[in-house]
Parts: sequence; C-alpha cells; structure tokens
Amino acid sequence: MVWPSRCHTPTTMTAEGKDAQRVIIAVDGPAASGKSTTAREVARRLRFLHLESGAFYRAITFALLADGVPEATWEGLRPEELDRFRIRGARGEHNGVQISVGDQTVDQELRTQEVNDHVSHVARIPAVRTWLLQRLRDLAGREDVVSDGRDIGTVVFPDADVKVFLVADPEVRARRRLAERDIHQPDRDTLLQEIGRLLERDRIDSEREVAPLKKAVDAVKVDTTSLTFDEQVDAILELARGRLAAGRA
Ligand code: C5P
Repeated sequence: MVWPSRCHTPTTMTAEGKDAQRVIIAVDGPAASGKSTTAREVARRLRFLHLESGAFYRAITFALLADGVPEATWEGLRPEELDRFRIRGARGEHNGVQISVGDQTVDQELRTQEVNDHVSHVARIPAVRTWLLQRLRDLAGREDVVSDGRDIGTVVFPDADVKVFLVADPEVRARRRLAERDIHQPDRDTLLQEIGRLLERDRIDSEREVAPLKKAVDAVKVDTTSLTFDEQVDAILELARGRLAAGRA
C-alpha cells in the first residue's frame, strides 16, 4: 500500500513544530528490537522520510572516539562544543538520511563494536540530547516521517499520529544482532555475551534522567519475538492505516 505524499500548505504549528497536515509515525523500543529496519521499510512503502535518530547518537560517539576526546571529559561537554565535529544529515538515497562527520560520509563506521559499547554513555549526556533534539526536528522539516529511537514518541515528536513501542525477548534480539554480523549459530558464550551487552544498553537507556527509554502512554506495544520481518512491517502499517483513517473521519 502506498499513500501519496501530501502537498503541504502553511498550517498551524504546535509547540513541537508539528505541522497539522503532515503525518509522523514514531517507533521506539530497546536495542535490536527491529526498530530501524522495520521503520525503514514502513517509510519506503509509504514514501515517507525515514529518520533514524540512533544513527545520530552513533555519529556523535564516532566523532568523539575518532577525535580522541578523553572519555572522562564527555560528561562535561557543552552543546556548542559538538558543532566542531560538523555532523550533518542530508536526504540520502531512497528515503533515508545520509550522515556525514566533517567531510566523511559515515555508515558502517557507526555500527562497530566500539561505537556500540560507548553510544549509550554518550546518549545520556544532557548536552548531546539538547544538541540533537532541534536538529532532528529540523531534519524532519514538514515532511511525512517515520522516525525510530528511544524517545521519539515521548520527547522528539510527542504529537506523533502513530506511536509504536517494539519489544522482543532478549535472546531473540541478541540472535538478530549476531545474524547481522553473519553469526547465525552462535555458541552459548557468544550468545550470552551479546544478551549481556543488550541488557546493559537497555539499562543505561531506561535509567538515565533525560529522555529515558520508555513507552509513551499512547503508544501501542508490538511484541516482535515471534513475528517475521514482513509481519512486523504489516503490523505497523495496519496500525497507521487505522489511526489515520480514524483521524480523517
Ligand atoms: O537505535 P540504536 O541502537 O542505533 O541507538 C543507539 C543508541 O543511541 C541507543 O542505545 C541509545 O543509547 C541511543 N538513542 C537514544 N535516543 C534515541 C535513539 C538512540 O538515546 N532516540
């Protein structure tokens, strides 16, 4: 199913910059719950912009590590200090956002184990969240958007039309993460180690003071433990269809 892109005329904006005519679908959830791949496909089918907020936290982490900024000083960073990394997002191929750090476009660089291991520490720094919040809203502009992360439905786009909170069993999430690295039949230690890493990231993301990982009260929880990828996409499209039809009625 494809919804035609909307023609935007100036409309009343809410405090969060939500244009009443555009559609925002927020997909939140813990690490490796399938948010990004599912959100990307939902956006492709609907011809919406896919705004993956986690990639920006990863880009900041990558920049700090690549620049050799001592980890002990990260906590005290001020928002203005992040400007010097020249982290930008621009509409990329298909309907995604291409991120660059300085003159380098980054993609696989954001998925290394080193970035994985540090990103949740970076994401809890208040300056980082302040710096990113307005940039994410600016990037979304007035387009129809599917955005995924931890605080999209609660903080970034609290007025989103559709809010989904994806969850899945830790073991299933760990197996999915390992499969992305071509480890399809992990031994017990590898599996337990990956589960441990995911749970630690979930813990830091849920316990932080600023914009913690949590389900928005009006989000619909979707458990993807026993769903195939297509079923996950269909579940979100189905929800979106229902919500938007109800909104138009
Ligand atoms: O979604 P992904 O796993 O790529 O996100 C990487 C990290 O970025 C998360 O573990 C979390 O610490 C942080 N994040 C966040 N808020 C978001 C998106 C990601 O704190 N909206």
